[in-house]
Amino acid sequence: MIQAKGYAAQSPETDLAPWNFERRDVGPHDVQIEILYCGVCHSDLHQIKNDWFPGIFPMVPGHEIVGRVIRTGDHVKKFKTGDLAGVGCMVDSCQECENCKAGLEQYCLEGNTQTYNGLGRDGVPTYGGYSNTIIVREEFVLHVSGKLSLAATAPLLCAGITTYSPLRHWKVGKGHKLAVLGLGGLGHMAVKFGVAFGAEVTVLSTSPSKEEAAKALGAHRFVVTSDPEQLAAVTGTFDFILDTVSAKHDMDMYLALLKTDGTHICVGVPAEGIAFQAFSLLGGRKSVAGSGIGGIPETQEMLDFCAEHNIVSEIEMIDINDITSAYERMLKGDVRYRFVIDMATLK
Ligand code: NAP
Ligand code: ZN
Repeated sequence: MIQAKGYAAQSPETDLAPWNFERRDVGPHDVQIEILYCGVCHSDLHQIKNDWFPGIFPMVPGHEIVGRVIRTGDHVKKFKTGDLAGVGCMVDSCQECENCKAGLEQYCLEGNTQTYNGLGRDGVPTYGGYSNTIIVREEFVLHVSGKLSLAATAPLLCAGITTYSPLRHWKVGKGHKLAVLGLGGLGHMAVKFGVAFGAEVTVLSTSPSKEEAAKALGAHRFVVTSDPEQLAAVTGTFDFILDTVSAKHDMDMYLALLKTDGTHICVGVPAEGIAFQAFSLLGGRKSVAGSGIGGIPETQEMLDFCAEHNIVSEIEMIDINDITSAYERMLKGDVRYRFVIDMATLK
């Protein structure tokens, strides 16, 4: 076994704290990565707090991982020692079902293995990226370009692909009016991709203080959703709303902002679920859809697209000892726009 160290929650009631644990040895198809940076996703907070379902504790969160390959198994073909590498939200899947074969491993019919808070196919709990090292089968390791800031690349592994994938799937681009609901980690990446794909992008936000930053990210318009006048001005105008909100929100109010035949795409996962009136849809043949992260081929495509177009996340680098206060700020919507842990601070 390989000795690893990290930060773990021992229960939903306790803060993250240093924890030493074991990872499996490097198998013939595995890559071992020294973790350099790990992004802080709101899903980390949802999961250590058991917002969605009872978690597996101790829990080492983190699924926006960038690092360097330090060892490879004998049969590994795509990576060699010294390569830069990324790992996102999944570390395994059956690889045989129709979804896996189509490169949609996130929708594996047997269930994908999550990077943490999951059970590996060997039945052993998985531990995530708030740690010094990780061992992952090579099919789930991504190539990362050294052209861009590595720290600012880390959030692409979840926030990036989770917003890139639905925008690609629904072919959002030139001629479309896209609203990004919630300007946090996912939301700010959605703005960057929406703009890069040629859509007219409006940010719908509860935080008036984010207007300037939204415009700097390329957003064409900024709407404060608590202002009835601003909301009235965009009612019935959007082809798509990409909903990244992490907490309970008024779906009927937002559905009114869609055009006829518009689509509201949920990527945020509030603990309370989402609810709306059927009238909010049938009044304009509207759709509510959802999208989960993205498959491995599309994640690589997204990373390559970002390298080519100079797209990274806007980050605030933190010391791992400050993770609890970073969570508190994230809960208040006070993130500009992704915390990234500098793993050199893990002693
Ligand atoms: P985040 O950085 O905390 O951003 C969420 C943003 O939502 C906040 O910054 C805030 O933006 C807005 N917001 C918060 N509470 C709100 C409320 N009550 N009403 C309206 N807006 C509110 O979180 P994140 O990391 O981007 O994650 C967002 C959600 O996506 C989480 O639920 C996360 O678990 C989920 N997620 C899903 C996937 C997937 O595969 N589908 C992948 C990753 C994450 P404003 O200040 O602009 O209002
Ligand atoms: Zn995430």
